[in-house]
Formats: sequence, C-alpha cells, structure tokens
Amino acid sequence: MELVDTHCHIHLADYGVNPDEAIRDAQADGVTRLLCVGTTFDDSRDAVEFVANRKNCWASIGLHPHEGKQYAGQSNLLDEFAALVNQPKVVAIGECGLDYYYNHSPKAEQRSIFEFQLHLAQQYDLPLIFHVREAFKDFWTIVDQYKSLRGVVHSFTATTKELEGVLSRGFYVGLNGIMTFTKDDRQLEAAKNVPLDRLLLETDAPFLTPVPFRGKICQPKHVRNVAEFLAELRNEELTALATATTRNAKALFNL
Ligand SMILES: [Zn+2]
Ligand SMILES: [Zn+2]
Repeated sequence: MELVDTHCHIHLADYGVNPDEAIRDAQADGVTRLLCVGTTFDDSRDAVEFVANRKNCWASIGLHPHEGKQYAGQSNLLDEFAALVNQPKVVAIGECGLDYYYNHSPKAEQRSIFEFQLHLAQQYDLPLIFHVREAFKDFWTIVDQYKSLRGVVHSFTATTKELEGVLSRGFYVGLNGIMTFTKDDRQLEAAKNVPLDRLLLETDAPFLTPVPFRGKICQPKHVRNVAEFLAELRNEELTALATATTRNAKALFNL
C-alpha cells in the first residue's frame, strides 16, 4: 500500500524529530512520497533546499495569509520569492489563501499576496495549495476571477456547503488528523461526502497529530492513521482509499 503526505512542514529547523528518521519511518509505513510546504519566503527556500537531495520529497513555495503584512507591496521580496519557482522539485504554489479566524494580517494584505500567488501559479501552470479559514466567501470572489486554476483546499474543516463550492470548481480536498479528533459532526459529514477522485491525504506535521498519538509530534507516517480513520468513516477499503488518494496526489502535483 502506498500513501502520500501532500502537506507537511518537516523541513522546519525546529521540527522536533530527526527529519530523515521521520522520512524513513514514513516509508516503512507505506507513506512513500511527501510534499514540504512553505509559509514564508525563507521557509519556502528552506523547503526547496530540504527536498533537493532527498528522494521522494517535493516542495511547494508559499506565503501564508498570516504573512500578508510582511510581504504586501514589497515588490523586491516578492520577486525573490517568485524566482524560487524555477528551483528543482518545486511542484506547487502555497500554502496561500485567506485566514479570517486568526486575522494575523489585515484582509487587504492577505488578499494582495494571495493574488500575487494566483498570478504566479497561472503563469507557471502550477497547482495551488489553499489555506482557507472562515473566509470562503471572499476566497471564491477572488479565485473565480482566475481561469483554469488547479489545486487543493488543504486542511478542509468546513461543511458540505463549502465542500460543494470546492468540488464545483474542480479542486481537491485535503483531509488530515483533525478528522480523528473533531467533535463537529458537520465536518465529518463533509469528509464522508468528498468523492474518492477528489480526496487528498495530509498530516500538516508537526501540527494536528491524529488520534491515538495526540500530544506527540505529528509525522508524515501518521498519514496512515488519517487514512485508516477515513476508510472506517467512509466505509471504504483502506487499499481503495490509498490507491485513489495516491493517484490523485501524483496527478495534481505531477510526482
Ligand atoms: Zn494551513
Ligand atoms: Zn500547513
């Protein structure tokens, strides 16, 4: 059985586990490929360097909506960031989007750097990794101005209503350990309704450790626990879930 962790941050310097051991442990558990996702310019550069000499690891470069106030209008910085797109093994743009839950940056700045990244993705025909929290209305207003975008709404925790918006635009849905510990039945209902050909698995390691490992550092190998939980929830064979989600990940990110 083969699984893909489509969203992790194990390249972080302060990741609490030896990342090469984490990769080995993941491989041993069938998690054969992983995608390291950037959230700032420096962090994206770190992700690119991290994956350069590591087999079956790829990078996504992104400016998180929290970072809006650092980058909005900083054209030199944005150009340097955009230049990373030409580095080897960069397969996506993100995480990018809108986060109105924390509002660490004003909405206008979040929107500005989000649109910069949408342009970049379009220019280089790369898929996007979207981070959307309590912001779907504005998210769709922006995204719908762009033609032929591909991507995944990562860490999806909204309801079936938002899910319909994601699916109608042909985007994928990324689910992670939150599903194993959420108390919100609407989130689980939405997770049941994601068609198998639109589903991606992720950990968001080091965050969001799934049950039964709460309190430990999340690792890419835990994508297997997410897969097992979802197979049970959705009443599917684990192997069928693994096969489909791996096929989806390879197709979207060209792994
Ligand atoms: Zn995120
Ligand atoms: Zn993340």
